[in-house]
Amino acid sequence: MRRRAAGLSIEQVAVALGGRVHLRHLRALETPGLRLRQIVDLSPVMAFSADVYRQLADLPAHQHPSLCIGCGWDAHTDQPDRHDGLTTWSRDRPGHCTRCEQQAAA
Ligand SMILES: [Zn+2]
Repeated sequence: MRRRAAGLSIEQVAVALGGRVHLRHLRALETPGLRLRQIVDLSPVMAFSADVYRQLADLPAHQHPSLCIGCGWDAHTDQPDRHDGLTTWSRDRPGHCTRCEQQAAA
């Protein structure tokens, strides 16, 4: 969800990380049910928190962190919004972040 929100393909993320050698890892990362012990640092390429990934993979659903239903952003990940600020929860669109709110208004 984060990768799609960033407008990137798996191949583009792999290239940005240093090459196609990352393709297999990235595909595994997005495979439901697979749990990876080590996760490549995706933060130089897109908003991503390995801690949140682990919470989603390892904890029961009622303990999952809240994610934006539009882009998957979580409150533990700093992400620029579209107006030179940091993304936070929208006051007007429940379940959405301000970045998604701003995109919908544009
Ligand atoms: Zn969002």
